[in-house]
Amino acid sequence: MTMDFTPGEREALGRAALEWALRYFDAAVEPPVYPTVSAGPLASLVSEALPQDPQPAAEVMAQFATLAALGRKNGHPRMFGYVQSSGSFAGVAADLLASALNQNVTSWRSAPSATAVEHQVIDWMKAMSGFNPAGGGILLSGGSLANFAALAVALRASTDADLNQHGVGALPGKPRIYASAVTHMSTPKAAAMLGIGRDAVVSIPVGADFRMDAAALRTQIAADRAAGLHPVCVVANAGDVNTGAVDPLDAISGVCAESGVWLHVDGSYGGFAAGAPLAPRALSAIGRADSLSLDPHKWLYAPLDAGCLLVRDPAQLQRTFMQGAAYVDVIADRDMSEFAFWDHGPELSRRFRALKIWFIVKCHGARAITAAINDNIAVAAQLAAAIDASGDFARLAPAPLSIVCFRYAPAHLRGNRDALNALNRTLMVDVQRDGQAYVSNAMIGDDFALRACIVNFRTTTADTAILLDTIRRVASRTMR
Ligand SMILES: *Cc1c(COP(=O)(O)O)cnc(C)c1O
Repeated sequence: MTMDFTPGEREALGRAALEWALRYFDAAVEPPVYPTVSAGPLASLVSEALPQDPQPAAEVMAQFATLAALGRKNGHPRMFGYVQSSGSFAGVAADLLASALNQNVTSWRSAPSATAVEHQVIDWMKAMSGFNPAGGGILLSGGSLANFAALAVALRASTDADLNQHGVGALPGKPRIYASAVTHMSTPKAAAMLGIGRDAVVSIPVGADFRMDAAALRTQIAADRAAGLHPVCVVANAGDVNTGAVDPLDAISGVCAESGVWLHVDGSYGGFAAGAPLAPRALSAIGRADSLSLDPHKWLYAPLDAGCLLVRDPAQLQRTFMQGAAYVDVIADRDMSEFAFWDHGPELSRRFRALKIWFIVKCHGARAITAAINDNIAVAAQLAAAIDASGDFARLAPAPLSIVCFRYAPAHLRGNRDALNALNRTLMVDVQRDGQAYVSNAMIGDDFALRACIVNFRTTTADTAILLDTIRRVASRTMR
């Protein structure tokens, strides 16, 4: 018995896996977007006592193929459900290579070339988002962890007290984090995990366009300071996940600068759109942020997982994540061969996430990526216009980026919110079951909205037209 395959076994499994991946991509546009599946039968399909004896790899592959068909097709051009990646094949190939190479990207000494590639990729992320070129950063699992790490860093930067040693009890006052009412759930979650509590997150009002009111922010920070509270940071949206709202980053950065409060920008969704001509101009102030979350596994079209935190002053990462006080001997004075990611983030063992980003950016080029993002925004605008021009759909929110919130609203139900909410709730589930397209939902005030997110280089206006037709077809069945 051996854990090592023979060269022939390796080749057979490797070719079968590659063959499967190639066919999966060939069939990316084929419905159903969502499989016909229920939990009980799926659980019994997977259920198996711990295998003690080897099973032929070909049989394991065949079982995988059966299970794969019972997953949602996230690369399908009519998978409108969420802000998520359609999954570039360059990233797929790179992930196979990264696993084969199996570098542990803890530090330069452990993984010299992978560390150098991650530094390079971080520089490209700064260039694509318009972040300060002098900043540093680290790749993480996603936007939630990037936001969590950013708030941990902002908290340390807000005081001279040694929070790593003494905990948040050493803060000079009750901490305050300012975010708009539509901030991502990872903001309050981070506050909870940091031990400062969700109560620390102060909700700043938004206008009808869901953008933070910068004047209200200024007033709130001043009032909190006067009351002896401890303002820590502002979390501003560069593309909120409900409607795509981009907060007025320029005005907010002004408030932060004058009040000495850290500005964290959550660009998990919209950060990479900064260079797209159709994107909101407010994104051009990203360079004024102290920190920025990005999600290459969203609008850089990378396969899961890949998140990124950028920080204007990389020493602040060390101040937060270094064990001991050695961060005072400034990194720039040391040789790059001394560099350790474990001093710059929460993880020790880390996979080679940078490789898929390196492959995607090099194989396609930043110009093509930005063009695909711009095209997604154009398709969303066209969908919004089609909804506005229709007699049976109604739009529920502005669509500044690539999310459109709307509902099916036939003439006889207009003005009847309860009936419209009930109908659209049913329609969402029925459309998902139908398999031709997939939409999720958002609550816009008290209105239940169907939410179409376009974060896919395959999606065209033909797909959005099919989405509207599918909803109409399913509705005529539902309302019969
Ligand atoms: C997706 C998203 C997050 C969370 O990112 P994950 O990668 O899913 O953890 C945070 N903020 C915004 C605005 C997002 O769109």
